[in-house]
Amino acid sequence: MRKTTAVLVLIFLFLFSHSSTAIQTATSFQTVFIRAGQFFDSEKGLFFSNRDIIVKGNVIEVVGENLPIPEGAQVIDLKQSTVIPGLIDAHTHLLYLENPSGTLSSENIKALTIEGTPLRALRGSSRARTFLMAGITTVRDLGNSGRFGDVALRTAIDEGTVDGPRMYVSGPGLSSEGGQFPGLQFNYRAIAEEEYRVVRGATDASIAVRENATYGANLIKIYSNNTPNRTLLSLEEMKAIVQEAHLLGMKVAAHATSDLAVLRAVEAGVDSIEHGYEISDTTLKLMKEKGTVLVPTDGDVKILKRYFEKAKIIPVPTEQDILKFSSPSHSRIQRAIKAGVTIVAGSDMYIDLDMPQGEAAKRVLFAYREAGMEIPHILQSATINAARLIGEQKLGMIKPGSFADIVAVEGNLAEDFNKIEKVKFVMKNGTIYLRNQ
Ligand SMILES: [Zn+2]
Repeated sequence: MRKTTAVLVLIFLFLFSHSSTAIQTATSFQTVFIRAGQFFDSEKGLFFSNRDIIVKGNVIEVVGENLPIPEGAQVIDLKQSTVIPGLIDAHTHLLYLENPSGTLSSENIKALTIEGTPLRALRGSSRARTFLMAGITTVRDLGNSGRFGDVALRTAIDEGTVDGPRMYVSGPGLSSEGGQFPGLQFNYRAIAEEEYRVVRGATDASIAVRENATYGANLIKIYSNNTPNRTLLSLEEMKAIVQEAHLLGMKVAAHATSDLAVLRAVEAGVDSIEHGYEISDTTLKLMKEKGTVLVPTDGDVKILKRYFEKAKIIPVPTEQDILKFSSPSHSRIQRAIKAGVTIVAGSDMYIDLDMPQGEAAKRVLFAYREAGMEIPHILQSATINAARLIGEQKLGMIKPGSFADIVAVEGNLAEDFNKIEKVKFVMKNGTIYLRNQ
């Protein structure tokens, strides 16, 4: 009998502990009233002073000036801050972290054969949290996650098991022979096929799209060229991929570094070009015509210096050297803007630089600043432009009907872009994850 009582007490305690979690979740469906000192309108690309935002559940209900506080609302005072839509990083690899002194082949083989997908996903979940804390509430995760480890992490975040940004994932990237594993011995070529979906012909390319769609990918990532490997996808393969993906309502992101690789991917009809380091003006013109977006995955001076130090490249280049080395990248961003090509922010930050990965990823915005982009344009690239590329109307904006993904940074961001590092408040889908006074 006593034993039964003890069991009942335990059951009660268990239920109670779980119901207290439920109460916490329920608070996220209350009304929240936010007072913003400065406010960024991503649609207009303009800053406004003194805006109030009313959030109900996971959706923004009203945005306006001098709004009355709804009864019972939780009031968040952000009068000393700039409120922006949750940032979007359109090019991440949450399940892959590379030691700067290693190579892509050696580090990736280690991830596949020693680390393994379950551990990669667990470590990815801790990296995901650093993105959220940095104010990045959405990522487009583009492969290098084994076979669908990214889908597992997305599921864990969506159900609230772990904290992280909204994830739009590609599953394994579709690549030509060899993946991105230069030097792999022929007998071990199957290793590359654990990380990449190697396609062999147009029919196989369509099948690969269906596979990724079936196993949970939101979009398709392809490698027009396979840097650092020399193989390329054929035009027929890429066209088959785009046709199949678009049929299934999926966007196609293409890794392309050389001008030839960019041109062929654009001709095949992909939605975004990732990297595009050597892009020519004629290719940019075609991108503008076809509405292809550019995701320039650049490093700023601080990140590159840190990388050179950690990779033990001696002598470590000076800031002047780094700016000089980056000037072709800067000029391609300027040329792209001049050609009218839409820029979307994407970090491709997969290097271990001994700092929170989300903070390291956010430095890409400083690289755009170094390339001469204006502050509102940088913020648009990481909000509304990225949301449009993802194809989600309710993201990237703070307006009625949008998802309540809201971030605040200290002070006046319009005057000092460094403030983007000082995140004070993070709300994703109506839930508050960070609130610093
Ligand atoms: Zn990448």
